[in-house]
Order: sequence, then structure tokens, then C-alpha cells
Amino acid sequence: MAVSVQKLTKTGNYRGSPRDRGYDSKWDRLSIAFRKRHTCCLWCEQIGRDTLTDLVDHVIPVVDRPDLKYTWSNLMALCKHHHAQKGVMEVYAREQGLLNMLPEWSRHPEKRPLQFRPVV
Ligand SMILES: [Zn+2]
Repeated sequence: MAVSVQKLTKTGNYRGSPRDRGYDSKWDRLSIAFRKRHTCCLWCEQIGRDTLTDLVDHVIPVVDRPDLKYTWSNLMALCKHHHAQKGVMEVYAREQGLLNMLPEWSRHPEKRPLQFRPVV
């Protein structure tokens, strides 16, 4: 299979297109509706900033809870910067066996482990 450079991850693996990763038309409709309701990044709002949403994040990742893929309450709007931070927090939560804390940590920054609390 021919793979363009842009589609390789940092570790050199082929990540696949959004379609390959299971983002279908049902997801497209849901994420568009969610972004209309949540036009600003949640984590930016928590620190008093207005930043437009770049993407819709699964609070508990689909890889861990595929049953919550289309669940509105498992979604949050983030900017790219905070999505990257959230990814690091997901890895930590998975390693610590604390994935069930992600909803609380995502919505209440003061409850996050110290290293993930915003510096204001
Ligand atoms: Zn943000």
C-alpha cells in the first residue's frame, strides 16, 4: 500500500484515514452538531479564554470505550493545544487504571492530578 509521509505517525506507523479509524457519516453529523452547540474550547473557557473549537474529543477515548463513541455526554470541544494535553492525560489515566476519572478531570480542572492542572 502506498502511504504518504503525512499519514505516518511519529513512530512511523500508518495511522489510517479518518474513515479507516471508524469516523463515519454518523460521527460527522454528531460532531458538527456538537461544535454548533460548543463553539469554544472547553479547557480554554475554564481558564477564561475564548478560543474556537478545533475538534470534538471523546472524554473517555473510543479505544477504551467504543460503546460511548456516539454519546453526547462523552464529548467535549477542544482546541488543538488542549487536545494534545488531553492526549497526555489519557495515557496517564490508562497507565494508572483511572480512565473512569477522565470525565471529572476534564470538566473540573482543579480535580486533575497536579501535572495536568492549568497554570493561570
Ligand atoms: Zn483550548
